[in-house]
Amino acid sequence: MSAESLSPRLQTLVQNSRTLLKRAVVEHQDVVYSNSLGAEAMVLTDIICNYVPQIEIFTLDTGRLHDETLALLDRLERRYHRRIQVFYPQAEAIEQYVRDNGINGFYQGLDERRSCCDIRKVEPFKRAIAGRKAWVTGVRREQSAERSHGEAISWDDRYDLWKVSPMLEWTEDDVWAYIKARNLAYNPLHDKGFPSIGCAPCTRAVEPGADLRSGRWWWENPESRECGLQPRRRIIPLKVEPRRAVS
Ligand code: SF4
Repeated sequence: MSAESLSPRLQTLVQNSRTLLKRAVVEHQDVVYSNSLGAEAMVLTDIICNYVPQIEIFTLDTGRLHDETLALLDRLERRYHRRIQVFYPQAEAIEQYVRDNGINGFYQGLDERRSCCDIRKVEPFKRAIAGRKAWVTGVRREQSAERSHGEAISWDDRYDLWKVSPMLEWTEDDVWAYIKARNLAYNPLHDKGFPSIGCAPCTRAVEPGADLRSGRWWWENPESRECGLQPRRRIIPLKVEPRRAVS
C-alpha cells in the first residue's frame, strides 16, 4: 500500500492500528474480525487485508439488510480477492419468532425487538467467535461515553475472549479521509443521511445535527438503542455533522 497519499496523522493512525493488530496475532494467534460493513469497517478491512491477512474476517447477514449492504460485501470480496465468511441466523429460530410475533414483530416493543436482535445478530455472532482467542471490533472513542474508556486490548467477559479495538483513536473525519485517500468502497447509504446502518426496517436517515444513533430503532428510547453485540449503556448523545460525500 502506498502511504504517500495519506496525511501524517493518517499514516500514524494506520501504523498504530497495524501494530496493534500484529501484536494481537502474536499474542493470541486465533484472531477474527467482526466486520460490520460500516465506514470504520472499510478502513479496518483495508488495513487487515494489506498488512495482517492472517486475521479471518466474518460478517453477519441478519436476513433484513439493505441491498446496498450486501452489494458492498460483494465489492469487498472482489477488491481484496478473499472470502468474507457470512454467518446467518438459525432458520428454526426465525420461523418460530415470526410465528409468535409476525414478520415485523420488532416494532411491537422492546422485548420483541431485542428478541429479534438476539436471534438474528447475537446468536450468530456467538457462533462466529466460538472457540476463538480474540475478536477485532471497529469501535471508536468518540462514538459514546462507554467507548471513550475503551482499551486497545481488553478481556471481554461477555464472550470470554480478548477484544481488540484498533480504531479507538480514529475520528469520523479520519475514517472518511482514509476512505477518500484510498478510494475505498463504502455503503452509498452514508451519502443519503445514514450515519449508522443496520437492518433495513430498523434504520432510517437522520437530519444533519441529529444524534448519531437516532436513525437506529428510532421508535425506542435512546438508552435502549443497542443490538446486544456492544454494551447497552449509552450516556451521552453524540451529534453528527453533515458529511461531505466522498467523490
Ligand atoms: S435490527 Fe431490527 S430486523 Fe435487525 S435483528 Fe434487530 S430487530 Fe431484527
